[in-house]
Amino acid sequence: QDVPIAGDKKILLAAPRGYCAGVDRAVITVEQALERHGAPVYVRKQIVHNIHVVRELEEKGAIFVEEVDEVPEGALVVFSAHGVSPAVVDSAATRGLRAIDATCPLVTKVHREAKRFARDDYQILLVGHEGHEEVEGTAGEAPDHVTVVNNPDEADTVEVEDPSKLVWLSQTTLSVDETMETVRRLRERFPHLQDPPSDDICYATQNRQVAIKKIAEHSDLVIVVGSANSSNSVRLVEVALQYGAKAAYRIDYPDEVRQEWLDGVKTIGITSGASVPDVLVEQLMSELTHAGYFDVEEVRTAEEDLIFSLPKELRGDGPRGG
Ligand code: SF4
Repeated sequence: QDVPIAGDKKILLAAPRGYCAGVDRAVITVEQALERHGAPVYVRKQIVHNIHVVRELEEKGAIFVEEVDEVPEGALVVFSAHGVSPAVVDSAATRGLRAIDATCPLVTKVHREAKRFARDDYQILLVGHEGHEEVEGTAGEAPDHVTVVNNPDEADTVEVEDPSKLVWLSQTTLSVDETMETVRRLRERFPHLQDPPSDDICYATQNRQVAIKKIAEHSDLVIVVGSANSSNSVRLVEVALQYGAKAAYRIDYPDEVRQEWLDGVKTIGITSGASVPDVLVEQLMSELTHAGYFDVEEVRTAEEDLIFSLPKELRGDGPRGG
């Protein structure tokens, strides 16, 4: 039997990885809502973009719906971490739903910026992916003032009304490098373009990208644990490839790793998106042990200790509305 030579096959484990403060808070919000109010608890959209988390909450009694009109009148509904537009809040109130808002505070911050700049009559160029729930929520704060810019190429063609009253904001989970390229191209056309008051791409997205950049060039293969609809997970695959990984794939579960991915691979870089519980990474590493990858080195580029308090509806006497 072949005995793997120590150091021959190796895992570089990115840190920070996995759960961010906003995801942690949103998942606990649903769990506590179930504990306090009993099942079912309805959740508009996936609470966070991870299939494993959604399935586990479903087993505990959460029911995921696309829109609030699928929620029975008077029932309890949780809004997901990605945020909702005022129109959604209004329609929940009209149906007499009791609502708990699990929107990440860092998304709420971007909503506040959008409202403020709209009030001051700015046109807001919202860098982000059209159709993503967060972008719909943020744009919904000021639909008449927001224009979505999907990528650097759109920066060259987007039409603006008054170049002197222009600000850019962004989705929280984008590639930092690509966003900066979009903004650079926007500023070339519109020199008076204002920056957001503070970074909209959140600390967790930035930290996970910095960590994967550090290990990508040393990796024959990068595996990102995260779901297909998780923006920050998909970005990690792109960033890994841009920064020198020979190959990079995203998986939800360890059994998706294909044998041929490992052919000739000595060093595997591993990371996970902000909505991924670390148990999935542990399972992946355990599977890779069977293929001879015993040697694990964690490469840490930042410490994270941010914790958000729970939504006010779970701190006080109960959810509003009803
Ligand atoms: Fe909040 Fe960032 Fe996590 Fe999204 S990725 S929930 S914005 S901390």
